[in-house]
Amino acid sequence: MSKPSILVLEDEVSIATFVCASLSAAGMLPRATGRAVHARRELATAPADLLIVDLGLPDEDGITFITELRKTSSVPVLVLSARAHESQKIEALDAGADDYLGKPFGVGELLARVRAMLRRAAAAPTAPARLRVGELEYDRASRELKLRGAAVHLTKRELALFDALARALGKVLTHRQLLAEVWGAEQVDQLHYLRVYMGHLRSKVEADPAEPRYLLTELGVGYRLADE
Ligand code: CA
Repeated sequence: MSKPSILVLEDEVSIATFVCASLSAAGMLPRATGRAVHARRELATAPADLLIVDLGLPDEDGITFITELRKTSSVPVLVLSARAHESQKIEALDAGADDYLGKPFGVGELLARVRAMLRRAAAAPTAPARLRVGELEYDRASRELKLRGAAVHLTKRELALFDALARALGKVLTHRQLLAEVWGAEQVDQLHYLRVYMGHLRSKVEADPAEPRYLLTELGVGYRLADE
């Protein structure tokens, strides 16, 4: 397999340098730019396999960049958010970013996220019909969920919630994305629905619902189904 090409859109030179050095050392081909306008020009001539986008850019905010990008491209986007842009990371995910890292972050965390995203992008464009995570087995066609081989009985709504997370396996879904998908577009602010149903699901599949192994909380952002 050829080396994955990564475009890093980050105006802080020290961070861009650190990110590029880490990706190179891991066998990837990174390039960096600090301006959204340059990134767009760059992508028009040399597409990338993945983008790393800082939300605080000098010429444009990262959300506008991602919104524009999503009109023409489904390339995976990892967002970097400084504390000052915490609330924007949710907007960025809603706008079509695939994952995020808060600054400061470590090399291990960066590479794990990038590898997981490349893996997902390389897999079939549609979610697999059957998936297995730890002791959970899910068959999308028959909508059957098993835990250690025994059927887990889910209500229609619990199943819809689990199915949404399963289709995005490993990827964070924001509260709004989950609410829109499971309850409908007019219910996107009903965060308590989500909390209640996530509690039901966890009590059925987690050995310790307070320390979930499968249904992971992304604090203040949303949830993801663990992919390993
Ligand atoms: Ca910045």
